Formats: sequence, structure tokens, C-alpha cells
Amino acid sequence: MIRIEDIIETVESNRPESDVDLIRRAYLFSALHHRGQKRASGEPYLVHPLEVAHILAEMRLDEVSVSTGLLHDVVEDTLIDLDTIRSYFGDEITSLVDGLTKIAHISNLSKERQQAENVRKMVLAMITDVRVVLIKLADRLHNMRTMQFLKPEKRARISQETLDIYAPIAHRLGMGKIRSELEDLSFQNLYPEEYKRLAAEVDTRRPELEDALEKITHTIEEKLTENDVPFVKVQGRVKRLYSLWKKLKKQKITIDRVYDLIAARIITQNDKKNCYLALSVVHDIWTPVPERFKDWIAIPRDNLYQSLHTSVVGDRGHAFEVQIRTEEMHQIAEEGVAAHWKYKEKKLGKQEDDATLDELRKTVEKLLLPLVESTEETEDSEDFIESLKLDLYPKDVYAFTPLGKVIQLPRGATPVDFAYAIHSEVGDNCTGAKINGRIVQLKTEIQNGDVVEILTTSNSKPSRDWLNYVVTSRAKNRIRHWISAQQRAESIEIGRKLLEKELVKFSISPKKLLTNEVEMKRIAGEYGLGRPEDLLASIGYGKTFPRNVLAKHLGAEKFAALDPEKKKETTLRTGFKAVKKLIGLGEDAIVVKGVDNLMTTRGRCCNPLRGEPIIGYISLGKGIVIHNKNCKNVKSLMVNRDRIVDVEWAKSEKEEIQSVRILATTENRTGMLAGITNAIAEIKTGIRDAHAEVSKDDQGLIEVTVEVFDKKHLDRVISSIGNVPGVIDVERVNA
Ligand code: MN
Repeated sequence: MIRIEDIIETVESNRPESDVDLIRRAYLFSALHHRGQKRASGEPYLVHPLEVAHILAEMRLDEVSVSTGLLHDVVEDTLIDLDTIRSYFGDEITSLVDGLTKIAHISNLSKERQQAENVRKMVLAMITDVRVVLIKLADRLHNMRTMQFLKPEKRARISQETLDIYAPIAHRLGMGKIRSELEDLSFQNLYPEEYKRLAAEVDTRRPELEDALEKITHTIEEKLTENDVPFVKVQGRVKRLYSLWKKLKKQKITIDRVYDLIAARIITQNDKKNCYLALSVVHDIWTPVPERFKDWIAIPRDNLYQSLHTSVVGDRGHAFEVQIRTEEMHQIAEEGVAAHWKYKEKKLGKQEDDATLDELRKTVEKLLLPLVESTEETEDSEDFIESLKLDLYPKDVYAFTPLGKVIQLPRGATPVDFAYAIHSEVGDNCTGAKINGRIVQLKTEIQNGDVVEILTTSNSKPSRDWLNYVVTSRAKNRIRHWISAQQRAESIEIGRKLLEKELVKFSISPKKLLTNEVEMKRIAGEYGLGRPEDLLASIGYGKTFPRNVLAKHLGAEKFAALDPEKKKETTLRTGFKAVKKLIGLGEDAIVVKGVDNLMTTRGRCCNPLRGEPIIGYISLGKGIVIHNKNCKNVKSLMVNRDRIVDVEWAKSEKEEIQSVRILATTENRTGMLAGITNAIAEIKTGIRDAHAEVSKDDQGLIEVTVEVFDKKHLDRVISSIGNVPGVIDVERVNA
């Protein structure tokens, strides 16, 4: 068992100015309150906080972190509360312990469905102080190392959580060493059989592999010395089991075909120039595999990782990877953000300490915040998990702005992602893109090294279509946010109009209620909604009926007395004619903006054309569906008369084109199709599609899809087709 004095010694040698007395007090407090508690192994519970504190001391963290390591389970597992911790140890340690206790609670709550929300909360709790992340990782690492005494189900659950959350976070923070250990331990506990099988497979090859590695590292050392390249050491390694397992599964290959089963690593002295020198030596010994070379020194990964990677073909035709980096880069590759602690100058005063912490906090925020932001506007937890995974495992692509700025994007990213990565406004106003000087479609996948130029127009807006091909959560969230804000604004407007209309029916002045903030709020409250706008939005979405709102406003008695439907009921006849009369275009008609406008859609049954008489039907959650007044479905929709609204076509600034199918019945003779398409072309109308066939009764059936602006335009098209000799009949067809 590790002793507290060993921990103190480590802290003192790393950070001579540390207040080790704090650590001693934390130890005594922890020992006192965990007294009598046992771990699953039967050991005293105190072993766990001691080991966690030891890991933290080895990471060279400050005395506050090490003390928190000792105290991290006290609130969770004993009767001590945060106030007591505060009275003994002050605010700083208390807030760290608080963060860790919260994470423990969230983790215990964890059910499949809440997973995404939990990850978000955990990340948020961790971001409040970087040290919370580091302490939590140390805590998890020790628990993973000592899992053998737990039941298999519990082991599996904790391992899965480690793979889903903690290993990715360690990776994100560049902490390669902890990440590897967490992954391998999770793999071992989650899939014990597969782990054993794979371990055995590697073990049978191990002597041969180690022999090969020995030769490789020896050759490299010799040549580096010969060429005066200042290096610290050359290491060889066999691929870790978890990453090997993942690779075998993903590529469905056998172990013999894994090219990086073994790899060598050159650690040079601290000047990146030495790395490139070493690289040239390596390429001199063996032939490099083209396209396997990666320069993470010139362009570091966003988790700060720097290294040169190259694959070369070895003596017997076996390829292997060589990684080259300086000592400092190596430390960062292994320890990530934690390595920052090591580069602190001499002895630090309190203030400087804070400055380092601050800088670290910024780095961690930069790395972890995207994980949280991506949930703020996303309610769908599956979406979130997906975007989380994308953000956690960046397979990066580097592209350039025309001015040479590097933009780092996940693989599969498109110009829209690129635009949003530059600035949200650039994204919102993006209308096109050039890649390497050529105009491309917005859904084009960006490749490494592409120069991407975004074309913008100041008044253009995001499109829902973009969601089909953007991959960054930043772009997704901005687009979704825009769409929902747009939908909301429109549904508030629609809701207001519907309510006004209903008020007029009841002979109440619309202004009187709509400007009565207090009453509107009261009614909204009855629906469990907060603000008057929420109530209007709900009406606009078709979730709340204006009649019911009025009933709540007036009270049952007054409502019944004023109800115009009651008065009409006796005289109203059912049937289409009566209804048609009832819904004649009124002055309060809602204006329908465009074809694919967000809150209005054209009914697929009748595909109403600009200029045709229309009515609107409020569908649940989908906004207003526009039907031709003569559509055969209108009659059945009339059953819900409350949902029928007057609508009219807006005057359009831009002419919009709509496709309409027309069927012409003709005599069966040659040249009919040409005659008809000529007639259409003559009046400068676009044809999207046309085909001809012969019917059973020997008539020609020609169907054309034309692009028209409005009803008038369509009428012209129909009459000019009708004028073609041989045409018997022309009609419009609907889906
Ligand atoms: Mn713990």
C-alpha cells in the first residue's frame, strides 16, 4: 500500500514550494471518515483515495489537486457534507470536491436514454475547473485497475462508460498514456473472451515481433549516430490490444495484414529540425510508403499532439510505422494538458500559479466546450451522441482559406462546414464555393490541402438541405438554430392572426386582449407556457386552438353567450357549398409566402398553383398545408373547421417556378410529341420531362412536366397545347 509520505515526497520534489501540510491534513481527514469502510477487494477503502492522490502527484499536479484526490469520495461515501469540507479546507477544495461528487451522481443516474444529457452535465461539471477533469481521470484509472473484485455486470457497465466518455476525453485532452490504459482495461473487462484470444494471438508472435523490433531500433540508432542526429532514444512497440482489435474489426482483416502491428519511435532532442533530420535518415534506410507520411509537427492536431509519422517497407517486405518527435512533443503526446504543469518555471507564487491554471482552463475549454455546445440546441440525444463521437475522434482534414489560413475539419466536411468554421455569419450567408479555383457544389467533400473560397451574399439565408451534408456540430447547430428561430417567428405571427380572427368572430377587439400582457400571460400559464409569445407560437403550430384560448379568457358562461358558432349552428348546412361560402377569402387571410416556405407547404394531393383559389389547413406541428379550394380532400378536412384558415398568395418579388404535369390526349400519329414540345417552347416555358405512349383505344397519351409561374401561365400553356393540330384534350394531372 502506498504511504502518504511517498506522495508528499513526490510533491515536494516536483514542486518544492508546495504546502504539504494541506496534504497531511486532507489525509488525516480522509482516513478518519473512511475509517472502517472496505473496498470490494477487502482492503481498507483509504487505499483508493491514496492511490488517486499518488497518480495526481505523479502527474505533477498542485497540492490542492492532490489533497482533493484524498478527499474526493468523502462527500459521496460518508456522512460529511460540503459545508464541513469548506470549514476545514476552504472554497477551492470544496468546489473541486463538489464537481467530483456531481459527476458521481450523474454517472449513477445513467440510463441509456439519459446518456447524452449526462455526458453534457459531466463535461460542464468538469469544465468549471481543469483539475476536476484530471482528478476524475485519475479516479477512474485507479478504479479500472482494481476492477477484478467487482461482479462482471458492473465491470462491463463501468468499462462501457469509460470507453464512451473517459477515454475519449483523455484523448481529446491529448493524454495518450491514460487513454491507452483506460481503453485496454475497458476492452479486457468488457469483452474478456475476445481480449484473451487476441492477447494469445499476439503472444505467439511476440518473440518474432520483438526480434524484428530489436533489429529495427538498433539499425535506426546506428544510422542516427552515424549521421550526427541528436536523439534521446529509439523505442519499439507492439500495437496495443484495443486499437489492434478495433482495426481488425473495422477492416475485417487478419492480424498478419496489419501494417502497424509494430512501430518504432524516435525521440530526438528538443529542436523540431532534429525530427526532419531523423526522418531523412529513416527514409534513407528503408523505402517510404507514399501517402502514409503525416506531418503533425507543421500542423499539430487540435489536442496539441505533434509528431512525424511515416510508414516504410522493411527488410522482408513488411511495412511498419516510424514516429518521430522531440522530447517535449513526446511528453505532450503522453500527458496532454497535464504536461503543462511540467514546464512551469522554477518556484511559483500563488499568482503565477493562477495564471497557469487560467491558461490551462482556456485550453481545456477550447477542447471540451464543443462537446457541450453541440447539445444546447439539439434535443435529439442520438444526434448528440453522433456529433459527440465525431468531435471526439477527429479524423481531420486541413483546408486553407485563399489567404492561407488553415481550417481544420473532420473528414467528410463540406464547404458549408468550412464556412461556419470561419464565422457563423459566413456560414449563414454562404451561397456557393470554389475549391482550388473551381466552382463546386456545396455538398462537395473537402480534401486535405484544398483551398476553399466561400461565396456569400449578404441577404441569403441557411437552407434546410444543408443538414443533409454538413458534418461539424457547429454547422449543424447553427442551421438547426436558424430554422427553429425562423419557424418560431412565423408560428408566432400565424398564431397572432388566428387569435385575432377568432376574437373578431366573438366581436371582441383583438387589441384589447393581445396588448393585455397580464391576461395573455395568465392564459399562457394555464397551458403551462411561460410567455404570451409561447402561447401564440403554440396556436400557430396548431397545438392550441384559438377557440379554447377564448374560452379560457372569457370563462364558460360568457364564452357560450358570445359564441358565434352557437348562433349559426341552426342555419349552417353541411356540405361543400356551405363550407365554401363560409371560408370565402376574407380580409384577414394569412399570406402564403413561397413554395417551400417553412411554415406552409403545398398539399401533395392538389399541388395548388399560384393564382388558384386556396385555403389553408393547420396540421399538427407542420404548420399550414395549402390546398386548392376545389381539392377533393378539402371536404373531409372541413370536419375540423377550427383548423381551416383563409390564406392568399403573397405578391412575390421573385417569380418562383413550379412544376406541373399536363396530360394531352391526341390522335395517334407521328410528330405529336414534337408538336407539343415546340408549342410549349414557343411560349418560352421550360419542360422538365416529357414522354409519350399509345393508349388501348389507339390514342396518343403525352405527358409533359412544365415549369410555370402561376395559374395564368399554366392556362396559357394548356391553351397553346390545345391549339396543336391533332390534340383532342388537355388536362392538368396531380400526384
Ligand atoms: Mn473514487
